[in-house]
Amino acid sequence: MASPNQVKRYLAYWFQLGKPLVVPGQQMVLPQPVMQGNHYSPEFEACWQQVLESSRKDCYLEGTIQTIAELLSPSWEVTACARCEMPVPMFSLGMQEPDCPCADIPSWPNTELPQPRSPVDSGTQLSQIRDRLRFYSQQPNPRQSGTS
Ligand SMILES: [Zn+2]
Repeated sequence: MASPNQVKRYLAYWFQLGKPLVVPGQQMVLPQPVMQGNHYSPEFEACWQQVLESSRKDCYLEGTIQTIAELLSPSWEVTACARCEMPVPMFSLGMQEPDCPCADIPSWPNTELPQPRSPVDSGTQLSQIRDRLRFYSQQPNPRQSGTS
């Protein structure tokens, strides 16, 4: 079972990479900024409170199928992706490869970029990470054509 703090960190990390929260019947939610100085931003805290307190626990991170309510249930844990070490949902009652949202981010993992983080130090580079990821993900993959 993932603790609320683990789920909060999970959302914060993926929000920092530009992954939105999908809210059924509503627009996607992506609070910005996620970090403010050494802390989570008021925008992120407000989003998290809404997730915790309302029926929006049926929302889920884009690219995953596990709702926030499921992550907070005993069936699921939050673990580290084997590929990029980002927090990902893992079924806690059996062996299963975690489905990491990084699968559709071709430029990730990228060890040359600052990694997403928890509230510790300055947050000035986060929007740069997101913008660079957006930039890279819009580029055609040069290896997909003309390799013979
Ligand atoms: Zn990953």
